[in-house]
Amino acid sequence: MTLELTAKCNFRCPYCYCVWHEYPALAKPELDAAGWKTILDKCAADGVDDILFTGGEALLRNDLFDILGYARRVLPKAKFSLFTNASRLDETLIKKFKRRKIHLATSLQGLRTYGAMTGTRRSYKRLLAVVARASELKWPIAVSMTVTKANFGEAADMFVAAALSGASTIQVGPVILGGRAAANQELMISRDEWEEVKRRIRALPDAHVPYTFCDEFICSCRADTPKPLLDMWEEKNRKPCPAGKSFGVIGPNGLYRTCLHSLPKGGCR
Ligand code: SF4
Repeated sequence: MTLELTAKCNFRCPYCYCVWHEYPALAKPELDAAGWKTILDKCAADGVDDILFTGGEALLRNDLFDILGYARRVLPKAKFSLFTNASRLDETLIKKFKRRKIHLATSLQGLRTYGAMTGTRRSYKRLLAVVARASELKWPIAVSMTVTKANFGEAADMFVAAALSGASTIQVGPVILGGRAAANQELMISRDEWEEVKRRIRALPDAHVPYTFCDEFICSCRADTPKPLLDMWEEKNRKPCPAGKSFGVIGPNGLYRTCLHSLPKGGCR
């Protein structure tokens, strides 16, 4: 399960796939801690064994550790991960997550393009310093990268920067046409550009960091995507999407949906 604890975020990434940029009603009203605890009870009753806590930016919630502590009590054996943009992550917090056995994941949105790709004036340097410190503390962070038209030229450098900083794993994917990206379609890369990114990364010296490529350009769950567009980008060899089968999402207002990137035909419940 992915639990989107809040829609609030201090970044303005132009490619952000969070669905509430297209369907604002899905973000409101946000559940309070008691609401999330009720959902965690249900997760425990249903045998959920793997939860990703995310947002928005989950670290903006003042009651985050109250929710996580409760989660650990009702799901003592489950795998927990937390996705953060790392703007508030520091050594104290990394140690706190390590003690609670909560794995960390973040994204590297660019190097030269980091400010543009986060909609902030920030630099990638602090993010890489946090990734490096987490590695030194033996609680390394998984790093994901979204390739857009803007950072396409430095995608291989981003990969090297994440690997040399001590990322535990690296996940690379093209921008998905959804969320805020639906209004920023000029960020889409072509299939050829995506294959070029994969070629460049595969040609790098082996940094001994496991990595995966996500081939989904357009989420096939979407009810509103014209078929020609789907056919154009659909990766024929891709594994079937687990949405709604072994994977589900609960949004900031507590409604369940099957897919992270879209509001499927059946809507939320
Ligand atoms: S992609 Fe993540 S960090 Fe960027 S605006 Fe969306 S939730 Fe915030």
